[in-house]
Amino acid sequence: MTGAFPVVVAGIFGACIGSFCNVVVWRLPRGESVAKGRSHCPRCGHLIRWHDNVPVLAWLMLRGRCRDCRAPISARYPFVEALTAALFVLSALAFPWPAALGPQVVVSLVLAALVCVAFVDIDRREIPDAITKPGIAVGLLCALLVPEMHSATFLTELANRRLAAVLEGAAGAATGALVLLVVRWVGHAVAGKEAMGLGDVKLLAMVGAFSGPVETLLVLLVASVAGSVLGGVYVASRARRLAPLTGTLALGDAAPASFSRARVRAPRRAPVTVAVPVAPSGAGAAPTAGTKARLDLVLPGAAVWSDDGKDVRVSVRGVVEGVERHREGTLVVVRPEPLPEADEEWLATFALQRLSIPFGVFLALGAAAVLLAGDDIARFVTQTWPRFVTGR
Ligand SMILES: [Zn+2]
Repeated sequence: MTGAFPVVVAGIFGACIGSFCNVVVWRLPRGESVAKGRSHCPRCGHLIRWHDNVPVLAWLMLRGRCRDCRAPISARYPFVEALTAALFVLSALAFPWPAALGPQVVVSLVLAALVCVAFVDIDRREIPDAITKPGIAVGLLCALLVPEMHSATFLTELANRRLAAVLEGAAGAATGALVLLVVRWVGHAVAGKEAMGLGDVKLLAMVGAFSGPVETLLVLLVASVAGSVLGGVYVASRARRLAPLTGTLALGDAAPASFSRARVRAPRRAPVTVAVPVAPSGAGAAPTAGTKARLDLVLPGAAVWSDDGKDVRVSVRGVVEGVERHREGTLVVVRPEPLPEADEEWLATFALQRLSIPFGVFLALGAAAVLLAGDDIARFVTQTWPRFVTGR
């Protein structure tokens, strides 16, 4: 028992780091410097005052609005701050001060990096190299400086603990990269499409450098189970519903009719199709295949991650490919004429955003679980679960 004080300090520190994570998640994918320049409101451009930057509390005091222009501020900002604070508290509890301060600091910083990775992956379906690549090197350096991070399971006979820790970190990074490269290659051979991005490979290599080969396999196990259960439910629930996509549809020479929901399909290496529900009387001509169609779409800025957060307008000319039944009505499937590359990209981003699992989020989740409670998870996998399955 070391008292509550070091844990409270860790929590406050975590909230401040969480505030920095918000900056990283916003700026890194846009290629902006994370160190230079103070934060400003994306709508009115006013600099954020220091007292409006206090993690979580400021957002609550401002009731989620900009002090200057009253633009709503996403609840995600205080959420990321509170999440990071909670992770730092868990790290302080798992590695109590003062004896385990070294591992506590390292694990806390890795957790902060994982928060950044997870939210960039949610937004953009990509994992920032700027975090994972240096992360591999930092992981090996931390093994050298804080060797007690590593259990050195395989290298017990090696007298030099620092050397053993670095070797274990290197083995962990190699394991993470190799396993996911094999998964990627198999996925490519079997399904003929990219099942796993290289970003995930580098992320697991980074996690391996901080943990070790056995822990890396545990991370992958936790991530796969969580990803197939939670991710499967998430995608299935979204796939059935139409996306909140507003716009107008005109068929033939008729006047355009507006709609508020639609479905965008953007398979790789194939043209995008857009399916829009038609009211029985709306949109003019009866939708038969080959009818000329004109769609004006408004893609929500938040879903396509446009640079200034503004909605994106895309105009589509094409023909009706057919109709399909949906519980929200009859859908007209429009196959566009070749679109400008930028518009094609917006539509593809929108579709991808909606219907793909950000696997990096689950890798980050698994890594956080293993870093904080690796021994418990290992015991569960090797002892509790087999006993449960075999009934002994
Ligand atoms: Zn403002």
